[in-house]
Amino acid sequence: MSLNNFHEQVKAHALEKPKEEVCGFIILNPDNTILVEKVKNENPNKKLSFSISPKTFLEKKLNSKMLGIYHSHPEGNENPSLHDLNISQELGMPFFIYSILTDNFFLHFPYSFEPDNLLKRPYIKGFYECTCLLKDYFIKELNINITRYNYNYWLPECDKESNRILENVMHSNFIYKQKNELKKHDVIVFKIKKEGRKHVGVYQGDDYFIHQCGNGISQKTLLDKRWQKKIKGVYRHPQLV
Ligand SMILES: [Zn+2]
Repeated sequence: MSLNNFHEQVKAHALEKPKEEVCGFIILNPDNTILVEKVKNENPNKKLSFSISPKTFLEKKLNSKMLGIYHSHPEGNENPSLHDLNISQELGMPFFIYSILTDNFFLHFPYSFEPDNLLKRPYIKGFYECTCLLKDYFIKELNINITRYNYNYWLPECDKESNRILENVMHSNFIYKQKNELKKHDVIVFKIKKEGRKHVGVYQGDDYFIHQCGNGISQKTLLDKRWQKKIKGVYRHPQLV
């Protein structure tokens, strides 16, 4: 099963029952493939809400690597409802929502979410990508939460739009710095291709940076001449100036 089409399976599940909220788990298998596991919606009012039995949830969470819980919105847009936000916070689990109405996805990370190790993550769209590593790095290493500047971690297909979001996150969170001032914990924005999607990493000092590429595991990489040439901007968090 392909790694990065799991959202299509969530969508297909939603369309099977377009008049009610469907739900399930997004599981990372030991071989780094994704399992979309349908779960029964136990809510008596399935049209407007969903519930998963606590037993089903706990059993699954204990016995597998759960990345998130998904559900559909048949009539509303993809934004999480207040109820969604509360449950996600309570469980410490990311919520992945698909709206039939708008045909869009939303990936929400609650404040209570505890990030995984930063290194050796496989690439998983939404959950493990360069922008997630950036968010998780600041939580784990510096205890700074930058999620409130970007609520939806499901990046748009369009590179231009995705770049605009990244730019917003940079400008509302960080201070622009000159390349030659680079110091530990600085965020580096790379331009890989002329019109393509931008890439982010975090500088670790001693010419190394940490990042998650779209075609490999998250890792520490030497900021050699080849990477230096791709640097588009360097940013520092105001608390680290
Ligand atoms: Zn909802």
